[in-house]
Amino acid sequence: MRHYSAFAVAREALRHHTGWERAWRSPEPKRRYDVIIVGAGGHGLATAYYLGKNYGIQNVAVIEKGWLGGGNTGRNTTIIRSNYLQDPSAAIYEKSRSLYEHLSQDLNYNLMFSPRGVMMLAQTQNEVRGYKRTAHANALQGVTTEWISPQRVKELVPIINLDGPRYPVLGALWQARAGTARHDALAWGYARACSAMGMDIIQQCEVTGVRSDNGHVKGVETTRGPIDCDKLGIVVAGHSGVLAEMAGFRLPIESVALQALVSEPIKPCMDVVVMANTVHGYMSQSDKGEMVIGGGADGYNNYTQRGSFHHVEETVRALVETFPMISRLKMLRQWGGIVDMTGDRSPILSKTPLGGCFINCGWGTGGFKAIPGSGWGMAQLMATGHSPLTEAFTLDRFAEGRFIDESVAAGVAH
Ligand SMILES: Cc1cc2nc3c(=O)[nH]c(=O)nc-3n(C[C@H](O)[C@H](O)[C@H](O)COP(=O)(O)OP(=O)(O)OC[C@H]3O[C@@H](n4cnc5c(N)ncnc54)[C@H](O)[C@@H]3O)c2cc1C
Repeated sequence: MRHYSAFAVAREALRHHTGWERAWRSPEPKRRYDVIIVGAGGHGLATAYYLGKNYGIQNVAVIEKGWLGGGNTGRNTTIIRSNYLQDPSAAIYEKSRSLYEHLSQDLNYNLMFSPRGVMMLAQTQNEVRGYKRTAHANALQGVTTEWISPQRVKELVPIINLDGPRYPVLGALWQARAGTARHDALAWGYARACSAMGMDIIQQCEVTGVRSDNGHVKGVETTRGPIDCDKLGIVVAGHSGVLAEMAGFRLPIESVALQALVSEPIKPCMDVVVMANTVHGYMSQSDKGEMVIGGGADGYNNYTQRGSFHHVEETVRALVETFPMISRLKMLRQWGGIVDMTGDRSPILSKTPLGGCFINCGWGTGGFKAIPGSGWGMAQLMATGHSPLTEAFTLDRFAEGRFIDESVAAGVAH
């Protein structure tokens, strides 16, 4: 893999950019791999990357039915934070956030990580209590967050209206080293690094069946023929239930569309990320100047990757109370992704009833931020059979009642 650097950019500028090589190969599938990962979203690619980097397991294929990063990874609003309530969540999200800090250097790919700060507004007394509690929990977990006053909120976000007609801003939970990153670049950076290690990323190849023998996985059926493997990782977000059925087990997952939209680009007006759970909406400004706005999940299960008008109206109506200036913006485009929701709003990173088959899903509305940490833990689980990062997130917690309730932290889609 040729190293990207300022020198390389200058060299290529001099020779009319004829020397760049493809960022990743597009190989034909081999007959057999040590490990197959289904799903070339961020979590699947990160799992493959850390299998290779941390454990030397490089005979790996990542199989993708569409194009890499074309699922939720390329459709999210890119918020990165680790201010969750429960200890296992704080551990994996903070691991992830800390990996983001140096990931551009690690992957030699500019992820445009921007630790600009994320605030979660408290607009009811209930939220004040909830976020103060989270700030205390975070202090014990070693996650740096703080409770800030309405005046501090106004200093950080001058365009905010503190005296909303329905819900005044009473303060906020603030994480100064949280922020955003370029979502496509994350997928592309991991894909390039995996390909450089000799792994095969096979796009336009749908997994249509899982083969097993004596309770152990043997391989997969795909639209490009059967492929054998010793270990299988299912990392397909909204399609997890479909793949689990192929592997012969059921998941406590609901699949719903989650939507977002962006405005026309405007001059810089907001340099932090703001989430408003009570009115339900969140907003940041992209480097291009667009206001990136996240809305809610559809109220019914579905597999449609699209936006809808009623969500635009609901979300924008809510946010206009807190940010009156956006009422004059034109909306540029909207879209949707299929997210995988668990009852306790925490993910599943687990062995499964099928030997050698592992699953990583249930990140719901908030898994972009978790990609590096999840990949790190999932690779450890697949390589060694155990990971401290994933041990609380097993599938059997739903049967045993060991829920990891993150409904406050994930109360707004993000
Ligand atoms: C609108 C929206 C906004 C969001 N905002 C945020 C946010 O601000 N912050 C945050 O942290 N998270 C956010 N999320 C959530 C986040 O995007 C997801 O949790 C995360 O991207 C999931 O990544 P993944 O790799 O698990 O799934 P995906 O990126 O969806 O990848 C799964 C892949 O599996 C492939 N696949 C499915 N079935 C098969 C098959 N049979 N064979 C082969 N391949 C298959 C799919 O094509 C897909 O590419 C948002 C999501 C949406 C939709």
